Formats: sequence, C-alpha cells, structure tokens
Amino acid sequence: MNKLLFKLLRYSGLPFLFRQLVQRNKVTILMFHDISAQTADRSFRYLTQAYNLISLDTYIRACRTRNAALIPPRAAVITFDDGHKRNYELVPVLEKYRVPATIFLCSGIVGTNRHYWFTRKHPDLDSSELKKVSNQEKLRILSRTGFEVDKDFETRQALSKAEIEEMKKYIDFQAHTVFHPCLPTCGDEESKMEIALSKQMLESDYALHVHALAYPNGDYGEREVRFSREAGYACAVTVDYGFNTLDSDLFRLKRLSVNDTDNMDELVVKASGVWGFFKNMAAKPKK
Ligand SMILES: [Zn+2]
Repeated sequence: MNKLLFKLLRYSGLPFLFRQLVQRNKVTILMFHDISAQTADRSFRYLTQAYNLISLDTYIRACRTRNAALIPPRAAVITFDDGHKRNYELVPVLEKYRVPATIFLCSGIVGTNRHYWFTRKHPDLDSSELKKVSNQEKLRILSRTGFEVDKDFETRQALSKAEIEEMKKYIDFQAHTVFHPCLPTCGDEESKMEIALSKQMLESDYALHVHALAYPNGDYGEREVRFSREAGYACAVTVDYGFNTLDSDLFRLKRLSVNDTDNMDELVVKASGVWGFFKNMAAKPKK
C-alpha cells in the first residue's frame, strides 16, 4: 500500500519542488542505520545526483564562521546511527560515490559483543513501550529475558575495534551515548554520564576527535542540551523534522529519517522531506 503511495508521491513533482524550493538553500541531514552495500549503492547513486553531499564538519564550520560559501545548493549530510557491524561493508560504496559520512557510535557497545537493547525481543512489550518507562525499569524488564547492557553475547552486533580503526580514514565517527538509553527516561546522573562518557571513551580508546552527539532515538530535553554543551560537544542531532541553516540551534539539529529502505521511491520522497512534512502536519495537535 505504502509502496504505491511512495510511487505516486515521487512522481507527483512534490519531491522535485521541495528540492528546488525548500532544500535549495538549506542543509538536509539524513539518518540511516543499517543498510546493505547493495542498498547503499543505489541510494548514494541517487543522493549524489540529487544533492551536494557535505560533511557534518563542513556544515558546523560554516555555522561557526558564518560562511555561507561553504554550503553548496541542496546540501545534504549523511549520517548513520548506532555503529552496526554491517556498516563496515559500506566503505567501498562510500568511497565510490565520495560520500563524507558520519557514523554515531555507542561507545559501550562497539568493540565488544554486547548487544543493542532495542534488538532484544520481549515476549509482551515492544520497543516503543519499553521507551516509555524509566531506563532503570526498562533494564530490569529486559534482564528477565537474559539481557544485560554489559553482557558479552556469542554474536557481535556492532563494529569491532579493528574495523573502526580501519574505517577511521574514510569515516567521521561521533558519539551516540554509551548504551543507547532513551535519555529523557534516565536520572540526571545517568543522562549526564551517558553523554559525557561516550565522548571520553571514543577519544581515549580510538583516538577520535568527538564533537557531535546523536541523541538516541532523537529523544532529548533541555537537560540533554545542557549536558551536551557541558561535556564539550559542538553540536547534537535530533530526529525533529526540518532542515538546517547557518542560524540553526546547533544542539537541536533537524534530521530526516529515510528508514533504511531499499525502495527508491521511498528514499526520494523521504530524503526530500515531503514525507516528514505530511507526517508532521498530521501529528500536530489541532486547536
Ligand atoms: Zn540509535
């Protein structure tokens, strides 16, 4: 059903209009998670034609120096969240299309056999319900299924240390907290630690220069903005709908989810912001 809808929307001319009118003088930040090399090849072939891909760093530099010349028309920034192990297979594709990508890593999960809590299937509760309870309560519930944040499993879900070391030349690695909690459900100390320690671990264990944070699931509050500033980050990305300019709040950068799709109609529609625009409109409470 959605397949047909994406096709109709793609050829409605709306994505073209958004690219020309809305995205032309803005910076669009796109969010991926875990796509195959094949999907990446098709996606980046399209994205490099439709957009001018720039690094997150270039955008931040443009904001700090107020230099609009650093930003080409229809600029887009490519980001990946979590640090899934399959990201390793993307390097040749990213090189082929010269995509300057940022991958946000969970510092307590990469380089280990620990698992992302949201990949754990709970018999009764799905992950959207688990995001609503406090982080401590969520971990208590998940521990009954044999999950612990610091337990090493047989299989690996995240990038290994050797992979990150090898990818460092091509990829900008930044922080995505330590264990990927839903930050607003954490206590003060916990939220602060998740934000600050992630940067410290990535800098000391991988010799990375970490200046950007992606809030897990895009969930954040005033408190998280403050903690990110205090921890020394220069910016943080959300999944709030919209596009960015030189005047954007650097700790509330807007980002569009493209849903790791292999359906090119969906990619075109979502990358243009058309999908988010309608979703955002539908979600707005009526007065
Ligand atoms: Zn994530």
